[in-house]
Amino acid sequence: MNYNDILIIGGGIIGVSAAYALAREGVSVTLIEKGELCTGSSHGNAGMVCPCHSTPIPGPGVLWQGIKWMTNPESPFYIRPRYDPEFFAWLLKFRQYCNETAYHRAIPPLREMQRASLPLYQEWIARENLACDFEKVGGLELFLTHEKHEAGRHHVDEMRAFGLDMEWLDRDATHALEPAARPEVIGGIHYKEDAHVNPAKFVHGLAEVAQRLGAQIVTKAQVLGFTREGTQIKTVRTSKGTFQPQQVVLAAGAWTPLLAQGLGIELPLQAAKGYSVTMNRPPISPRIPLHLAEARMAVTPMGALLRYAGTLELSGISTTINERRVDAIRRGAARYLVDSTPREEIEVWSGMRPVAPDGLPYIGRSRKVSNLIVATGHAMLGVSMGPVTGKVVSELVRDVAPSVELGAFGVERFQ
Ligand SMILES: Cc1cc2nc3c(=O)[nH]c(=O)nc-3n(C[C@H](O)[C@H](O)[C@H](O)COP(=O)(O)OP(=O)(O)OC[C@H]3O[C@@H](n4cnc5c(N)ncnc54)[C@H](O)[C@@H]3O)c2cc1C
Repeated sequence: MNYNDILIIGGGIIGVSAAYALAREGVSVTLIEKGELCTGSSHGNAGMVCPCHSTPIPGPGVLWQGIKWMTNPESPFYIRPRYDPEFFAWLLKFRQYCNETAYHRAIPPLREMQRASLPLYQEWIARENLACDFEKVGGLELFLTHEKHEAGRHHVDEMRAFGLDMEWLDRDATHALEPAARPEVIGGIHYKEDAHVNPAKFVHGLAEVAQRLGAQIVTKAQVLGFTREGTQIKTVRTSKGTFQPQQVVLAAGAWTPLLAQGLGIELPLQAAKGYSVTMNRPPISPRIPLHLAEARMAVTPMGALLRYAGTLELSGISTTINERRVDAIRRGAARYLVDSTPREEIEVWSGMRPVAPDGLPYIGRSRKVSNLIVATGHAMLGVSMGPVTGKVVSELVRDVAPSVELGAFGVERFQ
């Protein structure tokens, strides 16, 4: 039996940020990961730290679009039809948030979290000297069609009303900002607040520092179950022994509902698979992270690397790589970038974003299990919100008032 104060389950950006924040406060903490560190969604994502994208996945017309694309094997958004009552219940809830009111309601809490996270990136990277290709050069959305570009103008006005710093650009301004864009690109949106990072380098670097500060990290240790005494978790059983922590932090990404179920907590959450292709940076490479509007994908320069990322596939717990969708990502990038010659790929990857029906994370202490804190459901914004989530978890553990308002992120808000 291992006795320790805080046990974190999950070695992605959320769990590792929490381990670091706690270790820095001198708290005795152990992180348990079923595989190797940072091999879930936190590994090969687009690495954007993006306050300007403080929007949830559910929005007006989103579900309908997914249904229309169900028969398209190359679509960027796909719902795999399957018999699964939990998925069906999640979809019904998700539908309730696919409207303008819910969409607008979600923006301020996401914006606050991201705005609190970005300075933490700067602070932690500088303090710990982390080599993770972090840059704050903004982001740029590229448009090929007038229809989308005009809709983008409306989006900019809408987001500016929420205080976000972005600008709608004509063709010349877009090409001046990003010379690697093809002549067919007719305009853009400049997301001035955004930054980017190599997410895996950041997580591994932070984990190393956390260990130096005293955190224990146990990999290849799968959490198998819990025992409870009243409203408290008493023990956590893993494939590498049993732990008896004072408090447990559940940060297991898309797998979290399986573990929460074992504690009698219903956590509506679905895995939304995405893909990325990483290559050496070509001679004519984008200098700024790009969002490709019509292709619905991202292109991020990360030091010596360039990464294409995209697709949102509601297909359950699975990291199987669908080559047709990956190929659609490669072809999507070629429509926007000057240098689109096929190049040697270093990695083709898939990962699962953890998504709640309202598109907001679950962050907070459980009402049902008093020594449990949940931190998951960050959907498309887990990298962006990783450090602030770690900081807030450390505050909750230590019974300090959270530095960010958590009202929208209640763990049992659907019960
Ligand atoms: C294609 C793509 C692009 C993306 N781009 C961006 C982006 O640009 N910006 C952004 O902010 N976000 C982005 N995201 C989202 C981001 O990757 C996720 O929100 C984030 O990585 C979630 O982190 P996590 O720590 O919650 O989950 P994960 O990284 O998945 O970590 C969870 C960990 O828990 C472990 N675990 C699970 N069950 C157990 C168990 N029983 N016992 C022990 N360990 C367990 C898993 O092995 C895993 O390592 C993207 C995602 C994808 C797929």
